[in-house]
Amino acid sequence: MEYEAVIGLEVHAQLKTKTKLFCSCSTEFGAEPNTHGCPVCLGLPGSLPVLNEEAVNYAIKMALATNCRINETSIFARKNYFYPDLPKGYQISQYDKPLAEEGFVEFYVDGEKKRVRLIRIHIEEDAGKLKHEGSDGSLFDVNRAGTPLIEIVSYPDIRTPKEASEYMKKLRQILLYLGISDGNMEEGSLRCDANISVRPKGTDKLGTKTELKNLNSFRNLEKAIEYEIERQISLIENGEKVVQETRLWDPVKNVTRAMRSKEEAHDYRYFPEPDLVPLVVNEEWISNIKETIEELPNEKIERFMKDYNLSYYEANLLCETKERANYYEEVIKIHPDYKQVANWMLVEVYRYLNDNNIEIKDFPIKPEDLGELLKFIKDGKITNNIGKKVFQKMIETGKKAAQIIEEEGLVQISDTSELDAIADEIIKNSPKQVEKYLKGNEKVLGYFIGQLMRETKGKANPQIANQLFKKKLEELKNNG
Ligand SMILES: [Zn+2]
Repeated sequence: MEYEAVIGLEVHAQLKTKTKLFCSCSTEFGAEPNTHGCPVCLGLPGSLPVLNEEAVNYAIKMALATNCRINETSIFARKNYFYPDLPKGYQISQYDKPLAEEGFVEFYVDGEKKRVRLIRIHIEEDAGKLKHEGSDGSLFDVNRAGTPLIEIVSYPDIRTPKEASEYMKKLRQILLYLGISDGNMEEGSLRCDANISVRPKGTDKLGTKTELKNLNSFRNLEKAIEYEIERQISLIENGEKVVQETRLWDPVKNVTRAMRSKEEAHDYRYFPEPDLVPLVVNEEWISNIKETIEELPNEKIERFMKDYNLSYYEANLLCETKERANYYEEVIKIHPDYKQVANWMLVEVYRYLNDNNIEIKDFPIKPEDLGELLKFIKDGKITNNIGKKVFQKMIETGKKAAQIIEEEGLVQISDTSELDAIADEIIKNSPKQVEKYLKGNEKVLGYFIGQLMRETKGKANPQIANQLFKKKLEELKNNG
């Protein structure tokens, strides 16, 4: 039987505010343990939470960017549970009245547009952190307790592991474009749980789902979901039942393991947070936030395709981050050959970024200087291959293209008379290759051009070299 997977994701994104959600403690990552805490985030008696307005602004931004309806009134609720990383014994979250509902996110998977609908986006505080070290027990760090999160809950519209990771990548891209989260999965500022069930393909009834936790990279997300789908299918095929439970992904052994049986919402005894008034977001607030939202990733990709005549593939890569897209647009201001600039960025520049594991802001060549180099190539002043060498030199020396070309005498030789004598010499010294050509093997032309390139240190104009040898060899042929 053929099965299909039904997958929904719950994504937690840490908001990049300076202070925590309900107190003025710093949210700085990597500080000494237990240096960012106060009576509020420690939940000491008599302390009162005060809502961080910036966190609400950020959450509204994300809700707007993902086409959600924003509720005028939303309510903070206590989610009660005991766990050592939760000093208060409850987490302040939103339950039946979240900030935003019914949105959607669109992205491409293997060239096809896919839409995933969102159930809700709500605001909540993070728990603290436990460190399990050796046999001395566990250590608690309050620093993360109370940092602001949004939770983005999708409908189970996802069908494959690839769709899940592409959806997650799109969410991350939107968060980064909006500048509201650093999206760093390694540091845990972007986390994801997946609800997975399988059913016979073509049926509507949902199977029993399991919840996967600890998916802290795109790669783990895909691998864990893949594993879990296979595990559920083989249970069903063997006549066994899928148990509703929470499972943990083990990235070392590449398996999921049962962690605990799934808790129900009523286990948490949700009730409205008595220390906070309802959050009221009026039209004016929303429209003020709307005005601060710049072009979103999908809008930018579509504009790049339309205005610069690029393929989806090219536009998508160029718009991967806002900074990369800006760099591209700075280069084409100087040198508006859209295709050439796109090719150079996606091949040469991106290779350098990948090899050195850096972002475009740390790329040593300024956009206007890259534009100038590409202009020299386009105008035929230097060959494309010499251009690549100049590109390397620009990175190494910080000099501009014009200076390197001048100093090293790299100007392309397009003057036939200059190449003529060298070509004659090559023909004279290559009787075997000449014979081959005369017998009809035109591929051997490449050999002659290669020799000429060697003699001129790559400076010969390849088209002219090609014409020159063709002319000379055809003359030999005709003269018998
Ligand atoms: Zn605090």
